[in-house]
This record gives sequence, C-alpha cells and structure tokens, in this order.
Amino acid sequence: MGRHDEETRARRARRRRRFEAMRGRRRLNALVATSTLIAAAAATIAIGVRTADCAYAEGGCVPAMVLPVRGGTVVSPFDAPEQVWFAGHRGIDIAAAEGTPLVAPADGTVSFAGKVGGKSVVSIVHGAWTLTFEPAVTTLAVGSKVSRGRQFGTMSGSSDHCDGACVHWGIRMAGRRYVDPERWLRPQRIVLVD
Ligand SMILES: [Zn+2]
Repeated sequence: MGRHDEETRARRARRRRRFEAMRGRRRLNALVATSTLIAAAAATIAIGVRTADCAYAEGGCVPAMVLPVRGGTVVSPFDAPEQVWFAGHRGIDIAAAEGTPLVAPADGTVSFAGKVGGKSVVSIVHGAWTLTFEPAVTTLAVGSKVSRGRQFGTMSGSSDHCDGACVHWGIRMAGRRYVDPERWLRPQRIVLVD
C-alpha cells in the first residue's frame, strides 16, 4: 500500500468523523427542541387543568365553582344530547322560588341580561365559558364584574325548565358545547388531559 493511499484513507476518515460529529450535534439539537416543546405543551395542559378543574386554596383543592343558589338542591340533572343538535338538558335545575338570590358560581363578567324567547336570562362569562341562568334578573349592567359566591341577581319570572320552582344553570364552552355544571362542584385533582 503506497503512501498516497494511506493519506487518502486518513483524509476520508477525518471527513467521516467531522460528518458524524455534525450529525450528532444536529440530532442533539433536534432532541432538545422536541423536549422543550413537549415540556411547554405539558406545562400548558397542566395549567389549563389547574384553572379549569380546581381552584387552589390553602389546604388543597376546592371545587372550582359553587351552586348559584346557596344551599340549593339540584332537582334536574344534566342530560347531554348525543349530538349537539339533539334534544337534551344542557344544564342543571336548582330549586328556587321567585326572588331567591343567585350567586356567581365563579368570578366573571356579566355578558347578557334580558329576554330570550320570553324568558329572563342572565349570562356571566368566566374565561372561555359562558354561564347562563334562567329565569333570572340582575340590576348589574353588562360588563360588571362578579365574584364567586357573591350575589349577582335573583330568580325571577318563569322558564319552561322549572315552572316557577327552580333556576336553570347551563355552562357553554367554546364551540357551543355544553358541560355538566355539577362536574365543577366536586373537588378535583390535577390530571393531564388528552
Ligand atoms: Zn334546565
């Protein structure tokens, strides 16, 4: 084997080592970038669940929301329709009489107060969710802030849900999907959602 061949082999080996090193750095960079993305996504999910499922107070996890009627009784549960356009019960009914004070289940802002199809309706926006009560009236102006557990209005008027004996509470999420309000009345722990 001549000297020339040895030099060529050595040059090729150096080039291969440089290439391997470069590829290794690229792989490492890609791995770091992916890990960062995964960590960021996990953090977002965890925070989302934390605010959605559970309000943290001293001593641990407490229910995210309270019933709009203090000490109220749920007389008709949520009954999710199989498809969004099917009939169902898109909320819960809580025993109440004309004039019963209504308290905000969570901090929010009054987004609507008025008649819808002859029924008195009050809505409160809480983050991306809209909490709706009927029959209900408020003296607060649209845009007013409300605090969890504080009175925002009263049960007043009639509703086809309750026949004057209850107030209907619905929670609509983005995309017009309704969720069971009772889900937010139970203490919940952080879990990663899929
Ligand atoms: Zn109802």
